[in-house]
Amino acid sequence: MQRLLILSVLLGTVFGNKNFVGHQVLRIFAADEAQVQKVKELEDLEHLQLDFWRDPAGAGIPIDVRVPFLSIQSVKVFLESHGISYEIMIEDVQSLLEEEQKQMSAFKTRARSTDTFSYATYHTLDEIYEFTDLLVAEHPQLVSKIQIGNTFEGRPIYVLKFSTGGNNRPAIWIDTGIHSREWVTQASGIWFAKKITEDYGQDPVLTAILDSMDILLEIVTNPDGFAYTHSTNRMWRKTRSRTQGSLCIGVDPNRNWDAGFGEPGASSNPCSETYRGKFANSEVEVKSIVDFVQNHGNIKAFISIHSYSQLLLYPYGYTSVPAPNHKELDELAKSAVTALASLYGTKYTYGSIIDTIYQASGNTVDWTYNQGIKYSFTFELRDTGRYGFLLPASQIIPTAKETWLALLTIMEYTLNHPY
Ligand SMILES: [Zn+2]
Repeated sequence: MQRLLILSVLLGTVFGNKNFVGHQVLRIFAADEAQVQKVKELEDLEHLQLDFWRDPAGAGIPIDVRVPFLSIQSVKVFLESHGISYEIMIEDVQSLLEEEQKQMSAFKTRARSTDTFSYATYHTLDEIYEFTDLLVAEHPQLVSKIQIGNTFEGRPIYVLKFSTGGNNRPAIWIDTGIHSREWVTQASGIWFAKKITEDYGQDPVLTAILDSMDILLEIVTNPDGFAYTHSTNRMWRKTRSRTQGSLCIGVDPNRNWDAGFGEPGASSNPCSETYRGKFANSEVEVKSIVDFVQNHGNIKAFISIHSYSQLLLYPYGYTSVPAPNHKELDELAKSAVTALASLYGTKYTYGSIIDTIYQASGNTVDWTYNQGIKYSFTFELRDTGRYGFLLPASQIIPTAKETWLALLTIMEYTLNHPY
């Protein structure tokens, strides 16, 4: 067993899928600005191959990092020598991945209808696309599928449109999975889609919303990245585009938008997880949404869903200048997280991106906000770091259910505050 472990670590792959044997996720507590800077130095040491799950933000704010087996000793020695405290959040990343795989295979049956589909497990891209086709076939009066483009690798990019009629009604946009490894978000997106078809005509709030507005839902917003998380590397975050002159692949699609693009809060290094790309909208997955939003011209709320950290954020991320309706956004965020917590007591923090986490330029909702979409929000779903991106499938439905209450709050407010 020991020999097999060492072999796996050295090869880094088992049957073509990158393995994470012996990788740990550390939570680092930088007590002051000097310690934050020290951790940032670690981030620049590319040979350690660290994967920051939560970037250094400021003193006292936890930093989560996945450390490959071969770097663990050096990282721990570095932290200890600078008096920086840390704890081990995940002992062995690989064992959580194996749990996840086991759970997925146990539920792997081809659903014949959206009623028999397994909402409490993670699904592949093909399974999600099959689900959406079933949903459209079952509810042709309510749901349609729009192709808004093709990915870098040529996959179709789909948006589900929930509409009860009218011509280009005011709309609410929701997207999940722009960062491909945030699997609870795509899984929640599937649940939202089903929920909308179940509740229309039953739930008075959703019915009122859909009687005068449309809902647009992009479940797999980064299809190439998502396919790659299944085939090759579960921890993949970015797109899969190639950058000339670099061996590193992919752009962070949440730093590629034309809002403060190129300013601090993104990386110009193609090997970074927050690489912004050569120019704004260089990623077709981003550009397809940009074109869609501009052609539509009547989107009134835009909600982009990530994980993890349990946050509800609003613009801006690239500047500390408050958004013009900052106060309104803050109050609405407060009502939304209150509604969310009413189900299971899950606590969310809310505020502007730059005040709540850190400066992030070229992000989705800064761009949509600057397009005049007053109600632009980003969620970071469960959890706060116990499992991070590897949230057990048993938490999918509870996560989706509580998030839905927050979404309904924002959608209802948008309905009642036309502009
Ligand atoms: Zn994300």
